[in-house]
Amino acid sequence: MILVLQEGITREEKGRLDTRLEGHGCIVREISTHELGVVGAAGRTEKDAGFFEDLPGVERVIPISTSFKLVSRRMHPKDTVVRVRDVEIGRNQIVVVAGPCAVESREQAFATAGEVRRYGAVLFRGGAFKPRTSPYSFQGMGVEGLKILADVREEFGLPVVTEMTSTDQADIMVEYVDVVQIGARNMQNFELLKCVGRIGKPVLLKRGLSATIEEWLMSAEYIFSEGNDQVILCERGIRTFERYTRNTLDLSAIPIIKELSHLPIIVDPSHATGMREKVAPMARSAIAAGADGLMIEVHHDPDKALSDGAQSLYPKQFGQLMRDIYVISPVVGKQLDFAYSKKGRTSEEGCEEPDREKKRAAFLGMEGTFSHKACNQFFGNKVSAVSLTSFRSIFEAVKTGEVDFGVLPLENSLTGSIHENYDYLLEYDLRIVGEVTLRVVHNLIGLPGTKKEQIRRVLSHPQVFQQCRLFLEPHHEEWALVPVTDTAKAVRLIRESGDPTDAAIGSQEEASIHDMEIIEEGIETNPRNFTRFVVIGREPLPKRPRSKSSLIFSTVNQAGALYRPLKVFADQGINLVKLESRPIPGKPWEYMFYVDLEEDVESPGFEPVMKSLDENTDYLKVLGSY
Ligand code: PEP
Ligand code: MN
Repeated sequence: MILVLQEGITREEKGRLDTRLEGHGCIVREISTHELGVVGAAGRTEKDAGFFEDLPGVERVIPISTSFKLVSRRMHPKDTVVRVRDVEIGRNQIVVVAGPCAVESREQAFATAGEVRRYGAVLFRGGAFKPRTSPYSFQGMGVEGLKILADVREEFGLPVVTEMTSTDQADIMVEYVDVVQIGARNMQNFELLKCVGRIGKPVLLKRGLSATIEEWLMSAEYIFSEGNDQVILCERGIRTFERYTRNTLDLSAIPIIKELSHLPIIVDPSHATGMREKVAPMARSAIAAGADGLMIEVHHDPDKALSDGAQSLYPKQFGQLMRDIYVISPVVGKQLDFAYSKKGRTSEEGCEEPDREKKRAAFLGMEGTFSHKACNQFFGNKVSAVSLTSFRSIFEAVKTGEVDFGVLPLENSLTGSIHENYDYLLEYDLRIVGEVTLRVVHNLIGLPGTKKEQIRRVLSHPQVFQQCRLFLEPHHEEWALVPVTDTAKAVRLIRESGDPTDAAIGSQEEASIHDMEIIEEGIETNPRNFTRFVVIGREPLPKRPRSKSSLIFSTVNQAGALYRPLKVFADQGINLVKLESRPIPGKPWEYMFYVDLEEDVESPGFEPVMKSLDENTDYLKVLGSY
C-alpha cells in the first residue's frame, strides 16, 4: 500500500513510523514523486488499511491493487537502473548480452567473446549448468565453465551472465559471475528465487514457459522481498499452440511491463524463435517496442555448437544486427554506442574511479533539454552534468578546465548545421571526442486545460521554431514566437507565468517535469528529425575505438584549389560523410571547409595522407577522431 504522510512530518516522526511499519512485517520504500512524504509499504502483514491510517504521521492510505507491490511502478515511479560493473541496464543505452548457449571450452568461449565484443556486446553470456530437456544432452561444464567465464571477464572486460539452477551453486556464483540468470524452467522455483534474493548479485529473471506477466512479476517480487532490487526481466517467448517457432515471442509484454513495473526488460529472441534467421527481425522489433536490451545467442562456429546451434548467430550476422539496432535506437529515444563496450572504457576515461571526483560535462539549458538527454545518453551517470546558458560558455568552461567535456548540437536533419558551434570549433583549440544522435520530437505544451485557440505567445529556442515551421506557419498572425535560450526554460517560464495564452515547444520529459500538458504531439515538420550532438574535450578519450574524424581546411583562391584536397581523399578511398563551407570571419567571400570522414585520421598509418592533405591546403585543423 502507499502511505501519504501528514504535511510537515519531521524526520524523527518518519523514522518512528518506519520502525513501526517494519515491526508489522512491512518492507518500507520512499516513493519519489513531486509530493513529499509518500512511502510504500508491502509485506506479510495481517493489519488492514484502517490500522495503518490510524498510525501517527499517516494522512491517508492508498492500497496497491496488484498482487505485486515492491516491483510495481506505483511503488517506484522512476525506472530502476541495474548496474553491472560499468554497464547500466534500464537507462537510455541499449544493452546487448551475447554469447553461446553453453560454455563448451576455453577456446570456444574466448573466440566467441572476442567476436561479440568486437561488434558491441557489453555483457557476455554462457551457461555452465544447463537445464536440458533430455538428460542425455550436454549438461554444461559446471564449475569449470564458471572459471572460464571469470577468465573471459578478465581478458575481454565483459561482465558475465550465467544461469544458476540450484541453491547449492550460490557461493560459486558469487565468486565467479556478475549476473545470475534464473532460467525459464526455474521462474517459479521459489527457494531459488529467495536464494538469489539474498546473494547480492543482479538477477536476470527469465519469463517462465507458460507464466503470465503477473506470475513473472510475482517471481521478481520474491527476489525483492529478500532485499535484492537489482532485477532485470527477460522475455524469452512463451508456449502457445504455434509449433513453427520454438516459442511465441510476446512482444506486448514489453509495453505492459513498462507500465506495471519499474524494472528493466530485455528480450531473448534466440530462445523465443529457435531459428537463426528469425532472431534479427524479432530483435529489431523488440527494440522498437521499447526493450532496454537484448540477449542473443552467438557462437563463433554455430554448426559445431553443443547446444542451441540452430538458433545461434554467426558473428557476422550478429554484427549486422548490431548495425540495425544502432539505427533503430534513436527513433525510440535510445542509443547503442559501439564504443560503450570497449574494455574499461569508463575507467580509462577516469570517470568512474570511486576515490576520484566525477568528471563534469556541460550542456545547454536545464534538466530535460535535448542537450541534457544527449549528455545522459553519451555518459550515463558517469559524469556530473553541468547546466550552462550559452554555447560559448560551454566552450569557455571546457577551455578553462571548469568542466571536462561539453555536449553541443552540431547539425539537425531538418534545418542543417548549427553554425555558431562550427565557428567556435574553429576559434577554440578543443577537440571533438565523441558524438551522439538523438531523435527530436517536439510538442506544443501549455498549462493544464489550455486550448489551442487560446494561445497568443509561443516560447522556445529559435532552432525549434525552424524545425516546426510547417506547424507554426498557419498561426503566424495570432501567435507571437518568443525566442528563449532553451526549451526547458520555455516550459518553466510558461508555468511561472500561469497565463493560459502562453505555450511552449519542448519535449515530453520537460512537460512532465513541470506538470504541464501536451496540447499537440509531434509537431516537428518531419518525423525524421534527428540532431547530431558532439562531445568536446581538451584531450581525446584514450583507447576509445574511433571510426570517424572531423577536419577544417581552407584553400587558396585558385582554379582547381578545392579539387586537390578532395583528390587526396579520393585517391585513398576515404569516404566523406559531410562537406560544408563557412565564410571566414573578416574575409568576405573566402571560405573554410568543414569535412567529416569515415576514418580515424589520427591513427598511425595516416601520417602520409595527412601530410599530403597539408601540402594541398592553405590551412588545416583536425577537430578530432572519435
Ligand atoms: C538460456 O538462456 O540458455 C536458456 C536456457 O534460456 P531459457 O531458460 O529461457 O530457456
Ligand atoms: Mn540456449
